Amino acid sequence: MLIPHAFRLTQGQDLKQALLSYVQAQSIQAGSVLSCVGCLTAAKIRLADETKSLSLSGPLEILTLAGTLTPTHVHLHISVADQDGKVYGGHLMDGTQVSYTAEVCLASYANLAFNREYDSKTGFDELVVSAAASSQ
Ligand SMILES: [Zn+2]
Repeated sequence: MLIPHAFRLTQGQDLKQALLSYVQAQSIQAGSVLSCVGCLTAAKIRLADETKSLSLSGPLEILTLAGTLTPTHVHLHISVADQDGKVYGGHLMDGTQVSYTAEVCLASYANLAFNREYDSKTGFDELVVSAAASSQ
């Protein structure tokens, strides 16, 4: 049921876009990020109040990356450390660029299908979990 995936991103790739591209190329219907370590030349992170974002310049180390993978969207939260060890974190946005490497391990779930639907209570497209078509 759980299918492991592992790959490496290289210099200049956009972390969020590269993960979405991988999910789509592999036709992953439901998945999550297990781990990601690497380094960045730039990071763009939306903060918890949903209105402000941080644009950080590298070098930055990726400390953690967590998230939910749906066929059309990747929802990712990241923490990074700068050259003084100071840590920043939040919601990963486009514009976060890998420098030398990013080692990514993912899991996909063959029994599940993840989607996003607008939730009027939150004003956001929220996760909807269902059984995979093949197991219904
Ligand atoms: Zn988020």
